[in-house]
Amino acid sequence: MERFTKSKTMVFPREIIVGHNTTSQIAELCDRIGRGNSVLIVADKKTKKLSGDDIYKILSKANYEVKMKVVARPTVNEVNHVIKYANKNKINLLLGVGGGSVIDVTKLAAYELKKPFISVPTSAAHDGIASPRASLKHSKGSVSKTAESPLAILADTKIISKAPYRMLASGCADAISNMSAVMDWELAHRLKGEEFSSHAAVLAKTAAQLLIDNAEDIRTATEESAWLAVKAMIVSGVAMSVAGNTRPASGSEHMFSHMLDHLGPGIMLKGKKYKKPMHGEQCGIGAIMMVYLHGGDWEKIRDALKKIGAPTTSEDLGVSKKKIVEALSRAQEIRPERYTILGETGLTQDAAKKLAKTTGVI
Ligand SMILES: [Zn+2]
Repeated sequence: MERFTKSKTMVFPREIIVGHNTTSQIAELCDRIGRGNSVLIVADKKTKKLSGDDIYKILSKANYEVKMKVVARPTVNEVNHVIKYANKNKINLLLGVGGGSVIDVTKLAAYELKKPFISVPTSAAHDGIASPRASLKHSKGSVSKTAESPLAILADTKIISKAPYRMLASGCADAISNMSAVMDWELAHRLKGEEFSSHAAVLAKTAAQLLIDNAEDIRTATEESAWLAVKAMIVSGVAMSVAGNTRPASGSEHMFSHMLDHLGPGIMLKGKKYKKPMHGEQCGIGAIMMVYLHGGDWEKIRDALKKIGAPTTSEDLGVSKKKIVEALSRAQEIRPERYTILGETGLTQDAAKKLAKTTGVI
């Protein structure tokens, strides 16, 4: 018999606090985590006002040595600024207070610093709030990088429900797109013998199904909607921790979304109002089309997105039909080593166009 040599490491958040007014529990949470007295809050201009300043006050009152660093875009430069500042101030715990970008900067800085970080989302625009991956912007789109898993998550639904509804809808679309990601993963397992975790797959699908089943409740844009979205995102994050990679939540639909980013901004809408598509919105549309390619129930995905109020067509998304087709036919270039329904060479222009038309995206 062959000897058993398998080994695996899974890193999970130690404590997850979700619900109404949970911000007030931040000092007790830091006490329990017990990583010392010197805390750095990372926020952007908006989230500083929304939540960062309150957390600063609460922690200062509880005798923490608190510093605040305001960041702008999620770039390598900003990550380096945070690292420098944290080193200078001998920080031993980081708090990422904000949307996806702020949390991405914080988790990358924490990873480099080898210090723990707490994820404090102020919106639920994508599933990065609970995952060990971060995406950074550069001149030609964005890259996904390995980062620190949050040691704890504190999600205050009172604050998250104040963020524009579009962000929440986009976050839900991102989690719903787990459906196509898992189909891609299963395919890669069957065709390429890629390692597959059925537990991680079930978790990722459960998160998506929760939002599909509750699409109408989410549309009410209440604090309850924020609760459902955050719950799904945390389960997605746990799925990625179990898998040890992003497979359960990122497949061909994410490649399509990254290719759209790479190809450049959206279009001018009537009335010259400029609209920049959001990550989750792009992934949701990608999921409709990729589930179709898999022969799955793509209409169920489309209908749930519609109910939630997330885009299902190029027009809703604010991207030209031509760009949708180009992104579809080139999506496979984003991550050629990750096998998906797009195969080794991707779709032809004709097939891409037909796919987008059949699913009503263009
Ligand atoms: Zn995503």
